[in-house]
Amino acid sequence: MPEIRHDAISGRSVIVATERASRPHTAASAVAIAEPMDCPFCANNEGMTPPEVARTGQGSPDAPGWRVRTVPNLYPIVEPSSTAASGATGAHEVVVLSTDHLADFGRLDDAKAIDAFLMMRDRVKYHLSAGRAFAFAFINHGRIAGASIAHPHAQVVALDVVPEAVIDMAARFDTIDLIAQELVVARDNGLVVIDGDAPAWSPPASPNSFGLRVAHLTARSQFSDATDEEIGAVALSIRDSLARLSDLLGGPAYNVVLHTAWPTSVPNYMHWHAELIPRLGHHAGFEFGTGMFVNVVTPEDAATILRSGRT
Ligand SMILES: [Zn+2]
Repeated sequence: MPEIRHDAISGRSVIVATERASRPHTAASAVAIAEPMDCPFCANNEGMTPPEVARTGQGSPDAPGWRVRTVPNLYPIVEPSSTAASGATGAHEVVVLSTDHLADFGRLDDAKAIDAFLMMRDRVKYHLSAGRAFAFAFINHGRIAGASIAHPHAQVVALDVVPEAVIDMAARFDTIDLIAQELVVARDNGLVVIDGDAPAWSPPASPNSFGLRVAHLTARSQFSDATDEEIGAVALSIRDSLARLSDLLGGPAYNVVLHTAWPTSVPNYMHWHAELIPRLGHHAGFEFGTGMFVNVVTPEDAATILRSGRT
């Protein structure tokens, strides 16, 4: 029987309706993206991107030798400044995760995964220090997840406004740390997939089939305030989670989204965290009409499958 569950963190309800499931691993992954002759994110093609703003590794700017490289997005969502009062201003950058054209975040080794995540934090911190109101990072992997270039990359977007959905999420943490609360429920119900300092778990009211949340046990409101050690633990937990999702679901497209407070937010129990969303289905008329999601795999089954490594 379909069941309604409420996700306190996203503020949305989900209908868990397993009867609607086709076998999840048959879902089209649609990762493939038409490849240009030359990939602008591969080493030796640095001249194909706008001048870089940050790198780790060796070498001169816009030359090989880097491990992680950040460049302005050639097709930004926002512009650095605007003369129009209603202008969408901010910064939009691409973080090239590694020189490996084929290695998505789930395939990076420890050092590379941590390196890439530290870069994301440092770019978010940079834009907040420069006075932007809000900044965060995300990974789109695969065409249906929004990626237009196959070479694995993250994006950092800084805005001069704080989005309503971000304000609304933070407000839900006014009186309680919902991440800590959910983790207790997850532990009690066998929903933890990877344990440790930065656990990954299947949310009890997950809006997405095989969706996961990852957070460090140390509760900080802002991603940009996380220590190197905390970033490292979260990076490896996300990396391992993505590897399991990829192995079990045939390399699906996915999004990794960071949820964080911002410098002028009212202090409360907000706990920054990551959301992993395998793109196994499409939001369609029902979702747009109701604001509710439909999940065809119970979060309990998803956790069991992801822990065991078997479908
Ligand atoms: Zn490439």
